[in-house]
Amino acid sequence: MPTPEDALQESRAAYEEHARTCRQCHFDMSPCAVSKLLLRAYNNAGRAQARARSAAR
Ligand SMILES: [Zn+2]
Repeated sequence: MPTPEDALQESRAAYEEHARTCRQCHFDMSPCAVSKLLLRAYNNAGRAQARARSAAR
């Protein structure tokens, strides 16, 4: 089972990969819908990790 840390790393990697490779993001110079979804997932993972971390303390 992935830890919140793993989920955070994975969602960040997915977002960065998209930002590097997405033509639409580069063409428009603004994030496309997929990019926004990935960024939201990344933010959610970050919050989940912060929660898990503070719960562990
Ligand atoms: Zn994009």
